[in-house]
Amino acid sequence: MSYSPDAIASITLSSITLPLNTPISDAKVFTGRQRPMTEVVFLFAEIRTEQGHEGVGFSYSKRAGGPAQYAHAKEVAGAAIGEDPNDIEKLYTKLLWAGASVGRSGVATQALAAIDIALYDLKAKRADLPLSKLLGSHRDSVRTYNTSGGFLNASLDEVKEAASASIEAGIGGIKIKVGLPDNAEDLRRVSAIREHIGDVPLMVDANQQWDRTTALRLGRRLEDLDLVWIEEPLDAYDAEGHAALAHALDTPIATGEMLASVAEHERLIDAHACDIIQPDAPRVGGITQFLRLLTLADRAGLDLAPHFAMEIHLHLAACYPREPWVEHFDWLDPLFNERLETRDGRMLVPERPGLGFTVSEQARAWTTDAVTVTHD
Ligand SMILES: [Mg+2]
Repeated sequence: MSYSPDAIASITLSSITLPLNTPISDAKVFTGRQRPMTEVVFLFAEIRTEQGHEGVGFSYSKRAGGPAQYAHAKEVAGAAIGEDPNDIEKLYTKLLWAGASVGRSGVATQALAAIDIALYDLKAKRADLPLSKLLGSHRDSVRTYNTSGGFLNASLDEVKEAASASIEAGIGGIKIKVGLPDNAEDLRRVSAIREHIGDVPLMVDANQQWDRTTALRLGRRLEDLDLVWIEEPLDAYDAEGHAALAHALDTPIATGEMLASVAEHERLIDAHACDIIQPDAPRVGGITQFLRLLTLADRAGLDLAPHFAMEIHLHLAACYPREPWVEHFDWLDPLFNERLETRDGRMLVPERPGLGFTVSEQARAWTTDAVTVTHD
């Protein structure tokens, strides 16, 4: 059978507001930089082709940026209409240059991420393969750890209860937030959780709110607790500070979730700023960009623990040569009809084609804006 070119017929963009059950606080709330988070805004892209193939992808924003991502995607999506959906690299470049005057990172490329991810979903579905298999995977399951039970708005007892429930559910690690105004309270919480979970892998996340001195002092106090990593001890753009800390401590340093392009990550990698890199596919502009980043990270000998959006990152982490971690967040569950399975500390890569998710009726009900783009 010879190849017959297909063409993108339409792209439906939707802005969907997901409410959170409890307002969420990390260290950025305690330093007064942000308010507790009450919702996450998603940009969904659903692509249909002339031959009847379909793909769905999403991007997201927290606290601000949702309307901007949606508006930018709406402006540039027309450039993809009529193009062969298989030529993802070409399409990414075309969409990028359609909006390049506002920059090639941040909101502009996060708007493209939803379309780029939908193109990968479509391509894998057309091949009748899970996305990880289309890309070429190293494993059928990935170590997973829970974050959602360890926020700073939760009391120590609540964090303990959530950790027990996660371990019971087959999740392999527990991450808790640190960065409270009282450093002693941070140490007390981390020690108590270490004691509570025994030798289950434990990570901490300061969400960029320590200065260099505090990070070094607390990092030293935490060395005995055998942490898998200390996450975002410093400002996300302080590559030199992270590098000095990574050099000074035995505990691995993880960072990268806040960076908004491959170029920003490249600086982190070049500075030897971390042991574990934490890119986020929607934030760096989609899977095309994320895959470029994985090549750089592997060459630099880094471990991988992608940030958030396990529905996408599970497939991408499965393709990384070194044994990665994927972050378990059940927040997005209501948006989809399918659920991911965890067993023996690992998340199982779904065998369904593509990403393996269909958009739920609940997500449709939470849609605040939608448009179908059919021409340039
Ligand atoms: Mg984090």
